[in-house]
Amino acid sequence: MSKLQILSASESREFQSMERVVDGTCKLKGREASWELLGALRVIRSGRLYREQHKSFFSYLKSKGLNQSSVSRGLSALEVKEAIEEKAWLYDKSKVGMIMSERCLRELVGLDEDSIPEVFRIACDEAGYGPVTYRHLKDARAKLAPKGLRRKVERVDESGEQVPDFLAEAFSARYMLSDVSAKLKSIVIELQAIASRPGGEYLPFHEIHSELSKISHAIALSGFGVTCIDCHGTGCMRCKNTGYIPKRRLREE
Ligand SMILES: [Zn+2]
Repeated sequence: MSKLQILSASESREFQSMERVVDGTCKLKGREASWELLGALRVIRSGRLYREQHKSFFSYLKSKGLNQSSVSRGLSALEVKEAIEEKAWLYDKSKVGMIMSERCLRELVGLDEDSIPEVFRIACDEAGYGPVTYRHLKDARAKLAPKGLRRKVERVDESGEQVPDFLAEAFSARYMLSDVSAKLKSIVIELQAIASRPGGEYLPFHEIHSELSKISHAIALSGFGVTCIDCHGTGCMRCKNTGYIPKRRLREE
């Protein structure tokens, strides 16, 4: 065995504890057990903790009687689950629990961060008062991104027109801007919490709130709105040679 293959003491301990989870949960068939199993498998895969006995992760899975493709599907679903949990505030609390099954989450694999809550919202509308199922998610996804597109964010401007490739960089900045804008909003929330506790009494919260909201708004509205109709993006007086009209001006014009 080469030096690289030997596990360090801490890796060895980690492998043992992950293996306990794997061996324990392999026998169970519950949903909880399977997330736990997937979590353990992910640690084993990313640290290549199987390497003393197995050449590949695949051969390790085989030795446990696990199917490679269902494990990789499960690991992708786990990623989506964590992405949702990380930004839980974007989801309807009363309904998000309904899509936490692997079957449902699989329908969201490969979507970018912004599209997941959007697909969820459409699915909830479709489901109405009933439960949200993987079918709703599948349809919602097809609605949002026809042609079953994955990863690739469709570059469509505010008027629904395709943005030319040479404006891709300008277009993508709108995500950066809305990120900053969202950060300011979260600062407002943070300050509100401080304002309502001892020691925050002198914080001019209402002033800060109104100023920061204005700034946050101004930032978000400065992003790409539509490709300039006069020059089709090549640059003219109207678009100040940028090729696009910001969202703010769409409201004015
Ligand atoms: Zn123009």
